[in-house]
Parts: sequence; structure tokens; C-alpha cells
Amino acid sequence: MSERRKEDRPKTDAVTSGRRAEWTGAVVSPPVWRGSTHLYADCADLARGRPDGDGHFYYGRRGSPTQWALADALTQLEPGAHGTLLYPSGVAAIAGALLGVLRQGDVLLMTDNVYQPSRAMARTLLAPLGIETRFFDPLDIPAYEAAFCDRTKAVLLESPGSLTMEVCDVPELARIAREKGAASMIDNTWASPLGFPALERGCDISIMSLTKHVGGHSDLLMGSVAAGEEWFGKLRETYLALGQVVSPDDAALASRGLRTLPIRLQQSEGAALEIAQWLAGRAEVAEVLCPMLPGAPGHELWQRDFKSGCGLFSFMLEGRSPAHRARLIDALRLFGIGYSWGGFESLAIPFDAARARTVMRWPPAGMDGDNRLGIRLSIGLEDAADLIADLEQAFAAMDNE
Ligand SMILES: *Cc1c(COP(=O)(O)O)cnc(C)c1O
Repeated sequence: MSERRKEDRPKTDAVTSGRRAEWTGAVVSPPVWRGSTHLYADCADLARGRPDGDGHFYYGRRGSPTQWALADALTQLEPGAHGTLLYPSGVAAIAGALLGVLRQGDVLLMTDNVYQPSRAMARTLLAPLGIETRFFDPLDIPAYEAAFCDRTKAVLLESPGSLTMEVCDVPELARIAREKGAASMIDNTWASPLGFPALERGCDISIMSLTKHVGGHSDLLMGSVAAGEEWFGKLRETYLALGQVVSPDDAALASRGLRTLPIRLQQSEGAALEIAQWLAGRAEVAEVLCPMLPGAPGHELWQRDFKSGCGLFSFMLEGRSPAHRARLIDALRLFGIGYSWGGFESLAIPFDAARARTVMRWPPAGMDGDNRLGIRLSIGLEDAADLIADLEQAFAAMDNE
């Protein structure tokens, strides 16, 4: 298995990881191995075959060097990981991790500000299997601690929270889970292990939607689950039972994205911070929800626990109607209107988080006011000055009824 990272050198690791000579041959990147059938030399070879580990040819569903190279690279980027499993989407990765850990009768604690499709799994996937989900406020640690019972076997964290960007004390929440005998999983899509080495910070299982930052070019869907030795075997068993596999073409694209991940994240983070600072000075803006921004909610925990951020953040308009918000978003020229994020192109979407929370109040006390509506921005690789100019003209269009 992969060596652990000896020092923090994300750009170098992103370039060198996963490129084993036996997989790449004479070329720089692992070729796209398309194949369901691997041929054996003779019957004796066949009889010797069926090695159980990854990294050996057996049958297409078990992957080829194209997928192994990507999984291996992700393992090298996640300190403490024993291995990484690749899923056809981020949602499939979350479902795969939950099914790998939880059994009938178990209770899952799920953070209330979780990605919406993860929340939906409580009802559509877990409840029919006899697995109960209880939501908790990740900012209320005593209530979280009190929520554990004998049947609590896992917690699902996400930080910053989806849409509303709260940063929680992941090391403490993970420590409590461990003390109570529950596995801690985190949806680490926002920071990636470059920004938040989740296993090193105490989590057992680190999940990512590779569709976002790792792919980075809005042209593939994929997810990953990385874990230490304690959980990897069990997760892999469920993964194989579910017949999960990703296409070699998509794996090659994701590997290509990985090479530029650190510089893309660095560029987007810098531009996002510049734009967040500009938004914080605008009268039309009530709150900027950007953990990288000094003074913003969660900034201190972010500074303590994270090594870097990314281009995704939100803000709330001051005293505007849904029609105002729609005019603003519609007037944007450089920002596309669309879900997903982490691509090279900037995106904007409106959100109404109150409908997606059952335990946390949204907006929270101190941030509430009349007609405060949320917009989420994903900052891509355009020049920050151009994005700011685009927002400026869109603000003018918003109030131009
Ligand atoms: C997009 C997203 C996912 C799901 O990823 P897909 O690849 O679209 O299935 C999971 N978690 C977070 C935080 C996301 O933003």
C-alpha cells in the first residue's frame, strides 16, 4: 500500500502520486485500459489467478491500472489512508460508506447541514433497512454528545456545511464518536485532503465527490472513500458486493484533473477570498458565509484546522425579495446558473436552507432579518477582477426594477 506523506508538499504529491512504472509503462500518465476480460496465459495461470487484492488483473469489475492509479494517488494524498475506493458518483460513495458501516438496528447521527441527497438517504435508503438516522447541530457539542445511545454506530459529518458553510469542530466531534464506539465519516468534498486531512484530524472515513475539485472540468461524475486499515476491508467488501466500478475513461480524466488540483484550488481560493472581501463591503449584502474570510462565521476554526480552502462560498442579500435575487443571478454573465461546483468555470445558485434543516435554525440568531436570501457562488479560474465587475453590474440590475 501507499507510503504516508512524510512532509506537506501537495503540489509535488499531486504530480507524482499514482504513477507507478508498472502501470504507466513508458508514458507519463497511465493509459486508458478498456476491458472487461483479462486474458490469462494458460490454465495454470488462471488457477493461480483470482488474487484478492487490488492492483492485480482478475476481471474488469476489479479495475485496471487506470483505476488503480487514481485510487493509489488519492490514497497517497490522504495521510493515514490504507486505501481508496472509487464510486461512480459522490452520492454512490456516501451510500457505499454508510452501507459498509451500518447494519440493521444501528443508529446514525447525521449533521443537520449535510448535503441534501445525503439527508434524503436517511429515509430512502437507511430506514427501509432498519437503520435509524438522527440529525444533530454540529455547533452544539453537548447536544451531540447527549444524542449517542448504545445503538449509535456511526456519525456523518460535513464541514463546512452544505450551502450555509458552518465550520464545526471536526477533531472534537470525531474524538467523541470514537469514545462512544461509533465510526466517524466526513464528506470532505469542500476542502479535499489537501485542505483538510480528515483521517489525520481524527475521522475514520473520508468521502469526496471527485465530480467537484478533483475532476475540476465539469465533465465527469465520480466519488471516493478513503479509510485507514481499521475500516478499509469492511468498506471494500460492501463495495465489491454492490458491484461498484468506475469507467477507465472517467478515471483517466480524474487522474488528469488531480495533477492540477493544488494550483486550481489555490487560484480559486485566492479569487474567492478577494470576491468575499468585496461582497462584505457591499450594502446589498447582509452576510458573507466564507470560512476563509476573517471575521466570517467559522473563520477561527477554519484557521485552526484547515490548511487551505477553495472557491465555494455563500452570501445573503440584505432585504431583497426572491424577484430581486432572480434578477441578480439572471444578470450575471460570467457565472453560469447550475448545480455542482469546483469546475474551472464560475457558477451561482440561489438557495433556501431553512427547508433543508430540521435541528438547526436558519438563518441563525444574529443573522436573521427581513428577506435575507442566500446565493452560493463557485469561483472558477477567471480573473477575480472580471468576476467582481460582473457581480457589480448584476447588483445594479437587481435593483433596477
Ligand atoms: C456534489 C456533492 C456530492 C455528490 O457528488 P456527486 O458526484 O454529484 O454525486 C456530495 N457531497 C457534496 C458536499 C457535494 O457538493
